Amino acid sequence: MIEDKSQSRTSISELGEFGLIKHLTEHFKVSQTSTIKAVGDDAAVLDHTNKKTLITTDLLLEGIHFNLTYMPLKHLGYKAVMVNLSDIFAMNGEATQITVSIAVSNRFPLEALEELYAGIQLACDTYAIDLIGGDTTSSQTGLLISITALGTANEEDIVYRDGAKENDLLVVTGDLGAAYLGFQVLERERQVFDVNPNAQPDLDEYTYLIERQLKPEARKDVSKLLKDLDVKPTSMIDVSDGLSSEIIHLCQSSNVGCNVYEDKLPLDPQVISTSEEFNMDSTVVALNGGEDYELLFTVAQTDFDKIKGNPNFSIVGHMTDKSEGINLVTRANQKMELTAQGWDAFLKKE
Ligand code: ADP
Ligand code: MG
Repeated sequence: MIEDKSQSRTSISELGEFGLIKHLTEHFKVSQTSTIKAVGDDAAVLDHTNKKTLITTDLLLEGIHFNLTYMPLKHLGYKAVMVNLSDIFAMNGEATQITVSIAVSNRFPLEALEELYAGIQLACDTYAIDLIGGDTTSSQTGLLISITALGTANEEDIVYRDGAKENDLLVVTGDLGAAYLGFQVLERERQVFDVNPNAQPDLDEYTYLIERQLKPEARKDVSKLLKDLDVKPTSMIDVSDGLSSEIIHLCQSSNVGCNVYEDKLPLDPQVISTSEEFNMDSTVVALNGGEDYELLFTVAQTDFDKIKGNPNFSIVGHMTDKSEGINLVTRANQKMELTAQGWDAFLKKE
């Protein structure tokens, strides 16, 4: 998965700003009919005709949001796009364009930026979105990436965070906790490598976890899956910070409470085995791990038959009156208040 490009280093100063932008963007193709003008003028021109426009931005800083020790630049470029697309999909929209702004120090040769943009381009091609602009500037130290994603939706299809009602079912796509454990595995391997640079890591049993950490996919498919089932969520959010924290956001925005059932949380077998190995509680990993980029939504109870048994969806709980609070119902049938917990929560309860 991790590829090492040739070791050549071309200083970015050799190209100049315009040369650099041209070099990095000239191989991008435009695929959306709504893109009238992409990179190359003072501003991009879009025509979203009869639809509503969705816009979302994320700012990623080296050392804060990513660490290049674990993350190859190509994966970083891909992931930075996914983080944004996930927000568009969480509104039940279609992603159409992105802008990419970077600040780079002279520590990075041209080849590094080529890798970053290869990942961005792979994301654009895979998700049929257009790169339509950005900005390029220098930085004193690290790398900064700011991506803005645009999307469209029919007004009646947009799903906000604030529409959940008492008795609605709480549903999550895919499975949880894998990206966090992928990070733990990579961090452990790095420490081994620091001690013994000749160590050959055997990561076969962690492939799913590492893939989820390094190459997450935003859930573009969910909007259509739900449409085909004739289900419109009452509220929706993407799982970036961790399930607990997103449930709390939905409840607070919608003014409801919630019961989430521990035994319903979707866990991949690698999450269960690796949690054991790291002496972590897999429920805590699933609730607080984050970076899953799955979608969390609520549906009316009358939609139960349309959702149940569908392998894409897990019904993990239901919404209650606000006065009941936000709770995890454990396997032992005990109610615990859900909190958006910090890192120390990962230590296994003995
Ligand atoms: P201006 O000086 O008018 O801000 P720039 O020279 O910064 O213009 O940008 C020229 C064109 O290249 C614009 O279309 C801009 O959106 C695009 N662009 C600049 N930097 C990037 C980047 N890092 N990635 C993609 N497009 C970029
Ligand atoms: Mg500019």
